Amino acid sequence: MSITVAAYATQSATENLAPFSIERRTPEKDDVSIDILYCGVCHSDLHYARNDWNFTIYPAVPGHEIVGRVAGTGSEVTSFKTGDLVAVGCLVDSCRTCASCEEGLEQYCDQGAVMTYGSLDYKRGKQPTLGGYAKNIVVNEGYVLRMPENLNPAAAAPLLCAGITTWSPLKEWNVGPGMTVGVIGLGGLGHMGVKFAHAMGARVVMITTSPDKGNDAMKLGADDVLISSDKDAMKAQRGKFDFLLDTIPVGHSLNPYLLLLKRDATLAIVGAIEPMDGFHAGMLLARRRRIVGSSIGGIKETQEMLDFCAANGVVSDIEMISIDNINEAYERMLNNDVKYRFVIDMASLK
Ligand SMILES: [Zn+2]
Ligand SMILES: [Zn+2]
Repeated sequence: MSITVAAYATQSATENLAPFSIERRTPEKDDVSIDILYCGVCHSDLHYARNDWNFTIYPAVPGHEIVGRVAGTGSEVTSFKTGDLVAVGCLVDSCRTCASCEEGLEQYCDQGAVMTYGSLDYKRGKQPTLGGYAKNIVVNEGYVLRMPENLNPAAAAPLLCAGITTWSPLKEWNVGPGMTVGVIGLGGLGHMGVKFAHAMGARVVMITTSPDKGNDAMKLGADDVLISSDKDAMKAQRGKFDFLLDTIPVGHSLNPYLLLLKRDATLAIVGAIEPMDGFHAGMLLARRRRIVGSSIGGIKETQEMLDFCAANGVVSDIEMISIDNINEAYERMLNNDVKYRFVIDMASLK
């Protein structure tokens, strides 16, 4: 049993996204059926659509920054009711029993989480999952977030990936007042990192090669700018940072940044998902510095982030598009021509 839903899909790595009909399962007893209002456009969507990671299942429907309203619920759902404003991020299921799942860190599930798109759903006959570039999605209630009504729902959509990806390490490493936090790189992730670190009360420094981006970051809440290509400026800031959030989306050398860390301070990688060049271990030893990685966030901390955003008025800076402009939006993303996230208005999908 299934429901036919209008969507946008691509059929191969070299084809554009185009209108396509998909099937969603009829809601099971603990499922929530969601009519999608907005879906953010993440860099991962583009990588997945074009098979850059060599695991794309076609037809491919990307999209994991989903905001919508509950259209119906299974018979045993108690947390949500028809009409509720809700959200779905990168995860739609996981084993629910391993230590990570029990601690609310489903993204690190031992069995592998079921991702919103690009997974074979092992709970349901290894059906390939299809993402949020669609009119509707059906998700187990344990993986649905409550979206606060006082946030602009379109601007809140990118919180579900870009937001939680930066929020989770900032919380895990206790960023707050009295700390100096460097955000490296200003794109979809970096702009949320600046907003969150600022809202958490830290002194925020934008670390970028581009003076223009430095100016933009000041408007988003940064207190200072450090131009990473300026060797003298970098040298003057050695040992001054309590935490560095590295949002650079491709492989790069860490050495220039490691020297900025204080003793026992941490650099967290959240952008690059690929082999990185070596780093000088002496820079770690010298001040007991740490390099860590962090991947999105669990359901519990995603809800905490949304509630924090509601209390502090934090949303993404977005450019709304209609779905027939998605292919052009991908090209613009490749040229870094977006401040800072495209969001699809799903009313444009007929
Ligand atoms: Zn994403
Ligand atoms: Zn698990």
